[in-house]
Amino acid sequence: MKRKRGFMDENLFYKLIDEVSENKIAKYVSFHLMGEPLLHKNAPDFIKYAKDKGLNTNLITNISLFNENNTAAVLKYVDYLEISLQSFDQDSFEFKKSQKYTFDEYIDLTKKIIEKKYDYGSTSQITITLIENSRNKVKDFNANVDFLDSDSTLSHFFTKYWDEFFTLLSKERGLHYNKPDALHYRKLRHEFLPGIIFNTRSVTTWGNSIGGKDNYIPAIRAKCNALHSQLGILWNGDVVPCCVDFDGNIVLGNVTEKSLMEIINSNYYNMLKDGFKKGKLYSSHCKRCKGGTNILSWITTQVYSFIKHRDI
Ligand code: SF4
Repeated sequence: MKRKRGFMDENLFYKLIDEVSENKIAKYVSFHLMGEPLLHKNAPDFIKYAKDKGLNTNLITNISLFNENNTAAVLKYVDYLEISLQSFDQDSFEFKKSQKYTFDEYIDLTKKIIEKKYDYGSTSQITITLIENSRNKVKDFNANVDFLDSDSTLSHFFTKYWDEFFTLLSKERGLHYNKPDALHYRKLRHEFLPGIIFNTRSVTTWGNSIGGKDNYIPAIRAKCNALHSQLGILWNGDVVPCCVDFDGNIVLGNVTEKSLMEIINSNYYNMLKDGFKKGKLYSSHCKRCKGGTNILSWITTQVYSFIKHRDI
């Protein structure tokens, strides 16, 4: 990430939530955009404020900053808690360069949060995400990293770390343990206990922007759901079209200078939005995002965008 890092001013956050809620700009507020939300000292208050304003709340976190003080607030006010575990063993965990925890400690922390969910009677849906590499994208990163790439590795992970825990917890709390007959790493999405889901997500290059991807072929035409079903606001108030633009390459305006509604009604915003619907990409960053590193990926990414976003 190249942009300057920082923390959103709390008054700006509250003003934004008021505007989103009053104008029904969004139903969901997601706390993430290539940063750890709980680094902000006001994060639990922010989540509560959004929830109290009638918005659905989604927190994506690496949980390393969960503690006795914030866990209760998070589990009370977050509708969807996504734990970005990513790793399935110590080697893959080391890729994340965690200074604070070993992999076993990290798994224990995840288990504690699951137990707390039931202690507090929380309705939060907890999704634990692992990263898989079925399309062998990891080669593009030029890194010697083990991503999840087989059903047997996934089964071993659950047998070693989770089966006994789920069995005991289900007996203690009278919960149904939905133990699967088989696990498939490519498209895992399974609810093991009520409100506890594991899923896999394909490793991503964030629109060809990480992994040293300078040799890409820019897209000519592609559709995108940005500005139709998502937009992002960076800590400094810059409005960006999507979470792929985590570096703020496509700034549509700044909410410290204009209201969010003014930005949404601007010509530039609507030109980009209309372009995403018609398959026209005006930004070089979008052309990179929807491009490919070879002819095959260049064609499939663009064609797939028209299929995936055909309803826009
Ligand atoms: S095409 Fe542009 S707006 Fe859409 S995801 Fe990629 S960078 Fe974001």
